Amino acid sequence: MQDFNPADNIQDLQYFGEFGGVNPSITDSSTYTFLQAGKMEEIFEHEIEGCYLYSRHWNPSNRYLAQALAKMEGTEMASVTASGMGAISCAILQLCSAGDEIVSSRTIYGGTYAFFKNFLPKFNIRTNFVDTTNLDQVRAAITPNTKVIYCETISNPMLAISDIRALSQVAKENNCKLVVDNTFSPMIFSPARLGADVVVHSMTKFINGMSDCVAGAICGTKEFIDSLSDVNAGASMLLGPVLDSFRSASILKNLRTLHIRMKQHSLNAMALAKKLDADGYTIIYPGLEKHREHELMKTMMNPEYGFGGLFVIDMGTHEKANQLMEAMQHANIGYLAVSLGSYKTLFSAPGGSTSSEIPEEERIQMGLTDGLVRVSIGLDNNIDRTYEMMSQCLKGMN
Ligand SMILES: *Cc1c(COP(=O)(O)O)cnc(C)c1O
Repeated sequence: MQDFNPADNIQDLQYFGEFGGVNPSITDSSTYTFLQAGKMEEIFEHEIEGCYLYSRHWNPSNRYLAQALAKMEGTEMASVTASGMGAISCAILQLCSAGDEIVSSRTIYGGTYAFFKNFLPKFNIRTNFVDTTNLDQVRAAITPNTKVIYCETISNPMLAISDIRALSQVAKENNCKLVVDNTFSPMIFSPARLGADVVVHSMTKFINGMSDCVAGAICGTKEFIDSLSDVNAGASMLLGPVLDSFRSASILKNLRTLHIRMKQHSLNAMALAKKLDADGYTIIYPGLEKHREHELMKTMMNPEYGFGGLFVIDMGTHEKANQLMEAMQHANIGYLAVSLGSYKTLFSAPGGSTSSEIPEEERIQMGLTDGLVRVSIGLDNNIDRTYEMMSQCLKGMN
C-alpha cells in the first residue's frame, strides 16, 4: 500500500480553466454542439473521450470531479450523482436484473436497507441480510442467483468492519461483484485496492464536508462506469440522478482539503473516545484496542488518516440518549441532526431515526439498541475543551 496515497493522487491532477484559471471552468450548459453530424450519431453508440452530448449524460464539471474521485479510490474511472442513494440505487440496478439476489450486510445505512428490503422486491431482486464480518454466514447466503455482495467499510451505525480482502475472494469464487459503501472512511480505506469491484459514496458526508449539499459517487472499472451512462441501458442515464455542475465544482474544491479534514476528524474522535472510555462510558470506536475489528482495520487502512471521525456512546436507555443529545446541543458541542462528516459535530440516536427503517428484531440482532448515540466529531480546534464540555453534560445527567 506504500505506493498508493489517495491525497497524493488527487494532488497530482492538473486542471486548468479555459482561460488558464487555476480552478476548472464551470460548465453552464445543458447541451453541447457538434461540428459534424456524424459525431453526434457516434456518441449515441459509444462514449467518446472529451466529447459531450447532454448534461444528464456527462458534463465537463462532473468529469473533473469524477476523475479526482477515481484517483482517490484507485479505480479506472468514477461517476457522480445527485445523492448517495442515487449512486447506490444506480450501481445496484446496473448490476442486478429480475431474479438476481444480493447478499448484504445487515448493519448498513437505513436508506440502503429500505431500498434493498422494500423497493427491490418490486423488480424481483431479493436480498439476504447477514453479518458480513462472519464469512461463513456470507458463504451460506450465496445462491447461484447472487450477483452482488454489499457492505460498508465502517458500518452504519455499529462501526463494524468487514474484511474487504476476504469478501472480495468470496465474491470472485462465486462470480459476483463486491460493492462497498466507503462513505464513513474516504482516504482511510481504499476498498478497490483491497479487491472491491465497485465503491460508492455519499459525498454529502466527509467528502464535501460542509453540510451544504447532497451528492454521491460511483467508482469502478471504465467498462462499468461507461455502462451506467449508456444512452440505451445505463441506470444513471435513464433514471437521471444527475449532479448539477455548479455543485460539482464546489465539491471538487472541498475535496482538496479532505485529507487534512480526515486526519483532524480522526484525531479528535480518537482523543474523545479514549478519554470517555477511560472514564467508564461504553464507547464503540474502531481506534480502541477493545474494538472487535481493531486489528483487522489496521491491516486494511491507509494509516495516516486514522480510525475515522465517528464513535458511538451507549447511554443504556432511549431517555438517557435523548437527554445527552439535548444537553450537548445546549452546550453547543454540536447539533442534534442526522448526517455526519461535517465540520461541526453532529449526533443522533440511530435506533429512533436513521436506522428506524430496520425492524426491531433485526436491530436487536445487530446490537443496535435504543440507548445508542452516534457522534460524528467535527473539526474542533481544541478537543480537550470539547471533552470537558462533554464530561459536564454526562455528569449533569440523572
Ligand atoms: C448518508 C448515507 C447514504 C445516503 O447518501 P445521501 O447522500 O443521503 O443520499 C448512504 N450510505 C451511507 C453510509 C450514508 O451515511
